[in-house]
Amino acid sequence: MADYQAPLRDMRFVLNEVFDAPALWASLPKVAENVDPDTADAILEEAGKITSGVLAPLNREGDEQGCKWNDGEVSTPDGFREAYQTIVEGGWNGLGGNPEFGGMGMPKTLVAQFEEMMQGANMAFGLAPMLTAGACLALDAHGSQELKEKYLPNMYSGVWSGAMDLTEPHAGTDLGIIRTKAEPNDDGSFNVSGTKIFITWGEHDMAENIIHLVLAKLPDAPKGPKGISLFLVPKFMVNDDGSLGERNQFSCGSLEKKMGIKGSATCVMNFDGAKGWLVGEENKGLAAMFTMMNYERLGVGIQGIGAAEASLQSAREYAMERIQSRSPTGAQEPEKAADPILVHPDVRRMLLTMKGYVEGGRAFSTYVAQWLDIAKYAEDDERRKHAEGMVALLTPVAKAFLTDRGLDTTIIGQQVFGGHGFIREWGQEQLVRDCRITQIYEGTNGIQAMDLMGRKVVGSQGKLYELFANDIATFIEENSDNQALRPYLEPLAAAFERLSDVTENVIAKAGENPESIGAAAVDYLDLFGLTALGYMWVKIVKAAADKAEGDTSGFYTGKIKTARFYFDRLLPKTVALAEGIRSGSDSMMALTAEEF
Ligand SMILES: Cc1cc2nc3c(=O)[nH]c(=O)nc-3n(C[C@H](O)[C@H](O)[C@H](O)COP(=O)(O)OP(=O)(O)OC[C@H]3O[C@@H](n4cnc5c(N)ncnc54)[C@H](O)[C@@H]3O)c2cc1C
Repeated sequence: MADYQAPLRDMRFVLNEVFDAPALWASLPKVAENVDPDTADAILEEAGKITSGVLAPLNREGDEQGCKWNDGEVSTPDGFREAYQTIVEGGWNGLGGNPEFGGMGMPKTLVAQFEEMMQGANMAFGLAPMLTAGACLALDAHGSQELKEKYLPNMYSGVWSGAMDLTEPHAGTDLGIIRTKAEPNDDGSFNVSGTKIFITWGEHDMAENIIHLVLAKLPDAPKGPKGISLFLVPKFMVNDDGSLGERNQFSCGSLEKKMGIKGSATCVMNFDGAKGWLVGEENKGLAAMFTMMNYERLGVGIQGIGAAEASLQSAREYAMERIQSRSPTGAQEPEKAADPILVHPDVRRMLLTMKGYVEGGRAFSTYVAQWLDIAKYAEDDERRKHAEGMVALLTPVAKAFLTDRGLDTTIIGQQVFGGHGFIREWGQEQLVRDCRITQIYEGTNGIQAMDLMGRKVVGSQGKLYELFANDIATFIEENSDNQALRPYLEPLAAAFERLSDVTENVIAKAGENPESIGAAAVDYLDLFGLTALGYMWVKIVKAAADKAEGDTSGFYTGKIKTARFYFDRLLPKTVALAEGIRSGSDSMMALTAEEF
């Protein structure tokens, strides 16, 4: 198995050459205070060392050992505690955090690259810093000044970690029916009681304290999603001087046995009158939690790319070394008993599909991160509002499309290895198992598709879609004279027209038939994602075209040739998707329950 190497060259290309992130950072005064190109480059370099050198070597052992439960305590696989300490010492937990409370204030465009490296190196471990960063974000956005001062500095440093407690045995997608209760106390605190399941890193031995953000219902709260509040519930109480006090009234009842990310603890948490504090307003907990979830959703999409990149690295190396059969055009390496499998068109199809999704996906996650930076830091109201609209529209696409293609990519990578991909030795089967959860948690991909189509596209009567449409249309228009881009702009314009046409069609049908959204949503998200990646690939070609001439490294020429493959073989899938969506919901809803 190839050792995971952080893809720094490609990340620098995407940041500096495709998106000119330094210019964006310079245009946002609060970002410019904290980062310049040299600082960003040093951060990438160091992140590469830690993720490739410290986290990646623990990935296999983490999978084999898993976490262990003993009477409520959870111990982590060998090396995880030390690795966590390295993350704490480097301040990596607070990379994108608010500097007022000890965060480093780095832009998401940069943080996204670190996240991808961490998830590619060791997804099970990477979930801990990811959840802590998300919890900090929700607390920073909605918590009282007192809560922020008390908790954020130790969370940004990573000395304390964060967990997100939404799911209950009977309530996953539909959080409106949760049963966990919060009873008010005279001192302004609440007693939280109930059972949460599937809580990632809800209990472990890596951090001194674990801060849970728990969804619960106040007495007499309205029914449904409008009656949910958010509470901060620490594992150990925190005294006024910041020292840790007694243990709170909740514990980990057991750990789930699961298909992948086995190095992470997935906990059943029993809250037994645990002391907690309200975050944000009463009954507005779901909205507050969405701050965290939106952040996590891009993060989960990035997990998909991370796993896919790790799979690509191994598959590429294997295809160059493994020899089987001769090339259809005759022996390429006659001195050997057979040619490397890279000569076979079908192996090339597999590797190019992987490259198309991974490198296009990395550009897309950076594109979304760019809008997140503008939404958070722009001083101009209109610019910020525009970016918020883009983030709202693109977040479900980033989560679902990048994880669906992430899993596809790891499976293709496994296939490149033939039977050797199925056995443990080469690491490919672990990547498939680990990546699978990314389609399920943080809202299943089916729900992401409903969010995109129902809430964002139809819900805004196409207004949010127009923001994205204008962005592509402007790009096509501005580059129409660029000869190098012409072979890509035409098919991009055709795919874009297809997407716009389907969008219009779906908005029109939604009023007549309430089932039409659910029937179209997943295919629509796929169509959207493939088109968006097509857009990214043209941007990549634009950045590479001038430098391709005389490029002996193959980096820029490889980009242009991969773009050609994307436009020849992957983008045309949009035609079939559009056709399917237009068929409506009839065939889907025709069967009775018995007929299933
Ligand atoms: C390893 C792991 C880690 C996790 N980590 C956390 C965590 O840290 N914190 C946390 O709170 N939760 C966590 N979860 C829970 C996860 O977010 C949920 O499992 C997920 O949201 C789905 O909920 P569910 O399992 O109850 O499925 P259900 O909600 O029962 O859904 C079952 C199926 O029905 C579909 N469905 C449901 N409603 C609709 C609808 N309205 N329209 C169309 N389709 C629908 C779903 O898409 C799905 O395919 C984790 C889960 C796992 C397995």
